[in-house]
Order: sequence, then C-alpha cells, then structure tokens
Amino acid sequence: MFRTKIVVTVGPACESPVMIRRFLRSGVSVFRFNMKHNTQTWHSRVMGIVRQEAKELGVPVAILMDLQGPEIRIGQLEEKIRLTKGEEVFFGKKAQKDKKTVTVDNLKLLSSLPVGEKVFIDDGRLEMRVLENKNGWIRVKVLKGGILSSRKGINFSSIQVAIPTLFAKDFENISMAAKEDVDFIALSFVRDRKDIQRLKKEMASKNLEAQIIAKIETEKSLLHFEEILEATDGVMVARGDLGVELPLEQVPFWQKKIIRLCREAGKPVITATEMLQSMVESSRPTRAEVSDVANAIYDGTDALMLSAETATGEFPHEAVEMMAKTARFLEDKVDFTKRNNFRLRSQSEVVVKGAYDFIHGEFRMREPIKGFVILTESGRTARLLARMRPNLPVFALTRSRKTRDQLALSWGVVPFYYPFKKKSEESIQAILQFLKDEKMVKKDDLVVMVYGQVWGEPGLISTARLQPVP
Ligand code: PEP
Repeated sequence: MFRTKIVVTVGPACESPVMIRRFLRSGVSVFRFNMKHNTQTWHSRVMGIVRQEAKELGVPVAILMDLQGPEIRIGQLEEKIRLTKGEEVFFGKKAQKDKKTVTVDNLKLLSSLPVGEKVFIDDGRLEMRVLENKNGWIRVKVLKGGILSSRKGINFSSIQVAIPTLFAKDFENISMAAKEDVDFIALSFVRDRKDIQRLKKEMASKNLEAQIIAKIETEKSLLHFEEILEATDGVMVARGDLGVELPLEQVPFWQKKIIRLCREAGKPVITATEMLQSMVESSRPTRAEVSDVANAIYDGTDALMLSAETATGEFPHEAVEMMAKTARFLEDKVDFTKRNNFRLRSQSEVVVKGAYDFIHGEFRMREPIKGFVILTESGRTARLLARMRPNLPVFALTRSRKTRDQLALSWGVVPFYYPFKKKSEESIQAILQFLKDEKMVKKDDLVVMVYGQVWGEPGLISTARLQPVP
C-alpha cells in the first residue's frame, strides 16, 4: 500500500470496532494507547477490539502503550478558565478563597520548582512565572494568557527539577501491559540511558517483553541522545513537549537529525504531534500541515503519528486518509536510497547490504526483481534492510507472532507469521509458495532471499541469494 507506517492514538472518537476496522483498511498498523487518559478497563477493552479486528482482516497490528511518566497536568476543572496577562493564579489542591485556583495532578513533583521559573501549559499556549512556591501552593503570574481547560500538560524550562522516571500509575500500567502482552512501551520524558534501564528492570520484574520507544521531548534527552539510542529499541520525536522545552524553530532540525541517527542504527522512529492538528475540527487540513507530513516522509521517518486528530477529533478517518494519500503519492516519486553510506559493523550488516545491492548497487542486476524475502527471528535483519529504504517491498517472515507485530512499525516491511522449519531447499520452495498464496509474488518473479546459517535462531546472517518463484 505505502511504506511509511501510520500510528493512530486511540480515544473516544475512534474506539468503535467499525472505526478501528476502517483504520486498518486504510493502512494503519500501530495503535497507540495514551495512558494519560481513560481507565485501564477502557484501554483493555479497546486493545481487545483492535486485536480482534486485525485478526479478522488477517493483518499485522502493533499495540503501543504510552506511559504517562512523571507528567504534570492540570486537574479536572469544572469549566474552562480564561487567564489574562498580568493576573495572578494559584496552583494547588483546593480552591483558594477569592483567588483563581487551578488544581494540578502530581503537585508534589513541583515542590522543587524555583521562584522565577517559567511554566508552560497546553504545549506552551499559556505561559506563567512562579512568584511563590510553598506549603503545597504555587503562586504564578500569567505572562501569556488564553483559555485553560482540564488535563492540559504542564512544562517548565528548568532541567534541574528532580523528577523520577516512572511515576505512580506507570507501575500499574506496566503490569497491565504484561497482561495485555503489548508490543511497544513508550517512555515519556526520557533524559538519559538510566531512564531506559530503569524501565527495563521494571518490565523484567513483570515479565513484559515489549520493545521500548524512547520519547524525545526534553532538552536533556537531546544531550544524551546517542546513549539513549543505544539502549532503546525505537524512538518517538515527541514534538509537542519538545517544542515547549526548546525554541520552536529548533524542532525541525532535531527531527531530521534524530530520524537520520535512528535510520543509521536500524531502529524505528515515529514523528509525532500536531501533524494534521486542524483536522481535529476541520475536514480539510492546512497546506502547511500536509507539507509537514510530506517533510517527515522525505526525511525517511518509519512512521507518522496522529494524536488528537484520531483520539478526540471530528474527522479521525479523514485524517488517516490524508496521511495515507500523501504517503502513497510521494513514495512513488521520491528516491529514499540516497545517503545510504552507513557504517557496516558486522557480517549480518554486510550480507544485508549485499542483498540491497542486487537492486540498488553500482553493479545491480538487470532483471526486474519483485522484492526481498527475509527470514528473521527478532526482526533485526528486516530492520537492517529497511534502514536503507529500498524501492521494493521487504517481506519479513518470522516464527514469532510478536516479531511480526513489532515489524508493523518499520518502514517498508510487510511482515508475516510463518512457522518455517529447518533450512532446506524444500523449505525455501514452501516459503515462496506461501508468498504466492498471499498474492505477494507470482510464478517466475525474482526475489532476493536473506537468511542465516541456522534457521530459527537469531544470529549471523550468512546468505543473500537471487531466487526465482516456482
Ligand atoms: C508529544 O509531546 O509530542 C507527545 C507525543 O507526548 P504526549 O502526547 O504524551 O504529551
């Protein structure tokens, strides 16, 4: 269909089986559950619907649980509040007599917020400065006013405020993730490698085997990006919070840089937030938004993400279709294989590059080739090929249902569950027959197959061979 993957955030606007099926039919392959919102029972029910619909349609789908992390939010307000520049407001638990007061979840986390610090609310739409912070109250002055509504996120500019990696609800949600056997866990507000290690430890203690997506949304995470990338399985460019922590004009630079480094590492990267924001209320996006989607595709992002557009917006399916159409149109026109001069650090990487060179190398084959067929346990081999963004589909066959679903996030990979047996010529013929039955290839097509010495064990990739389909 198209090679850039689409991640949708699930919410009340798209929780019905009908809408989820429409998303899947339009090519959505990853569903994000944002644990900031709704109850565990709700999440669990909708995860069940996603899995059921995908099973009925016979398509791979990944479930991504996005942990709230130490996020600080405005509490539940009875009604929206208008804040004007210059006025003073109190953040605290209970209403302060004669003063505008706003309740805050996890107020405790703000106890080290110094006087003079700038506080940003709702992705920086509102801005205030701390005048006083004591006894569970924070008095602030509004610098940039606007309408404040419930549950909006709070950021601050200081990177010194001490906050833990995982907070309160996260522990319960990790237990739930293990029960639901989710494919990805996204960690909010990652600062360095230690945050990932802390999450890994917690996941191991709960027997959760999901892959980790590090959300890059703090200044600190940019300083430590290399070590984070080494420790994580994938990355999200979380432009909402990143655009509050950094001057806005710097966000596109970091987006491009992060995508490039993730490609080099062969780890999937998601470009997120406000991609088609106006579609929350309008059936048509702005030209600039479509350009933003297109730009991320040009950058070679593995996946594009929709947030409020699909979770609470009025036009969730139209937003998905807009992304899908943009990807379909562009992918035919853009050569994604430029700048593939990645360092090769292992035999597997050299063999995979050899497979790629059948089609894209200086001395490539003249015969038309239909695609790549990769046998993989962990998905790593398919990702190593996908990082070079070849012009042909990467059919990845795996004996692990989990690997199949996790590959739903990787650019250009068409994953299949296939319980292949020991390495033999008969097994190869059976695999090609399987792909023929799936209507991915036809008789006499040529494919490039890639596999290791011993099938069914992760390890050294040893073979890249040209193979006609019988
Ligand atoms: C973001 O800040 O861009 C983001 C994806 O995080 P969240 O929606 O969890 O605030």
